[in-house]
Amino acid sequence: MAKELIMATDCSSDIATCRYLVIDDDISTTKRIKSILNDMGASAVECIDDIDVALSRITKETDHPDIIICDLSIPNGVAFFRHLEDKQFVGGIVLISDESERLLRMGSNLAKAHHLNVLGSLLKPFTEGALLNVLAHFNGPKAIFSSLPPSILTPEALRTAIEEDQLVPFLQPKVSVQTGRLVGVEVLARWQHPEHGLVSPGLFIPVAEECGLIGQLTQDILSKTFRLIAAHPRAGRTIPFAVNLSALMLSDVDLPRRIKDELAMTGIDPANLTLEITESGLCENMTSSLETLLRLTFKGVRLSIDDFGVGYSTFEQLRMMPFSELKIDRIFVTGAAQDAEEYMFFQSVVLLAKKLGLTTVAEGVETQEDWNVCRQLGCDVAQGYLIGRPMLAETFLNTLSSAPHWQVGKNPRSRQRTSERSRPLAHP
Ligand code: C2E
Ligand code: CA
Ligand code: CA
Repeated sequence: MAKELIMATDCSSDIATCRYLVIDDDISTTKRIKSILNDMGASAVECIDDIDVALSRITKETDHPDIIICDLSIPNGVAFFRHLEDKQFVGGIVLISDESERLLRMGSNLAKAHHLNVLGSLLKPFTEGALLNVLAHFNGPKAIFSSLPPSILTPEALRTAIEEDQLVPFLQPKVSVQTGRLVGVEVLARWQHPEHGLVSPGLFIPVAEECGLIGQLTQDILSKTFRLIAAHPRAGRTIPFAVNLSALMLSDVDLPRRIKDELAMTGIDPANLTLEITESGLCENMTSSLETLLRLTFKGVRLSIDDFGVGYSTFEQLRMMPFSELKIDRIFVTGAAQDAEEYMFFQSVVLLAKKLGLTTVAEGVETQEDWNVCRQLGCDVAQGYLIGRPMLAETFLNTLSSAPHWQVGKNPRSRQRTSERSRPLAHP
């Protein structure tokens, strides 16, 4: 059985060096937060009582805040999240309110739906310790804004990226919750832009889907991964690996044959490949999707339903389609120990999956508490920053070659220079 998980990533943020923006029209609260932060050595703390003024402070200039602490009940507080998303702000957000836990939870869900990095929420009055605990979730410093001008995200640029071999597979470990041992890896695409550095798939996959390049992109990532995995058998055995497949691809009924041929060419047993099916297309054309999924299953490939619980995944799909694995979205995993509703959802999904005979994978396991919840609920597999960040595939595989019995907390260090911790990603 796995012992205490050792943190593979250094989650402790440097509270003193971050820049803070505190938004609240209650002066006693802003004063108190400022004094707590000053006591911790933070000198860059700006307090503002108006959302519009606050928005004007959130620019791409160098003095932008790393962390925003915002009262949910301030006028226009709720619309603020939308504006932050428009500004592509990926710093940390702490929500505060004197209303209720329930309102805070809903505010937090809304902020997450806007892809904001919510560090936590606090009901007033809160203690100094509670605030510091929440701030410790900040994984900065990193790129606070996408360094990518929107003009870069064009179909032409993406086509060039594919043709000029700028897409690279990163790998993130998945471990057994029972033993802590590596049970596979997820392949996550990155665009290694010659000028702008690593670009997040959250930015370019939607472009690829919209302009019809997703087939070419998927083929490119699949081929590169097959070659890498085939060349690096661990202790003579292929590492099980999962590749994301946009549901849009399921209308391509010839896809299973091409995948099977390429697997055969590289000598990989199809049972080592899992395809994680993402997004809405799944329910748009159920019949052709089902045909492709069944063909893939007959070729021996495993299928996983990704992001379960958000977006468009439904019970109907679970019932009708030949999935063998269910990935629980991180919105229900990260912080589940501190949130009764999140915990309940997580628990119900694990129970449902078990009844249906599906393997459960929890995404977004960021802390020891998240890991403990996975164990309590009997979730099978865990993936997340606690275990390891996505890493350049070659680096990950090389580390595995020297330590074939990879285990949580022992190897490989996600602090390595090729992990995302030291190379900021351009985020959505
Ligand atoms: P996903 O399939 O849900 O992948 C998991 C995402 O969560 C990844 O983001 C990963 O870096 C991130 N993640 C992993 N652990 C943690 C954690 O503990 N905390 C947090 N906050 N995040 C964590 P990434 O790499 O930016 O990918 C975003 C999405 O882009 C993926 O979400 C997937 O839907 C899509 N994607 C990535 N590569 C491909 C690809 O080759 N093809 C397709 N069609 N989609 C891809
Ligand atoms: Ca996935
Ligand atoms: Ca997911």
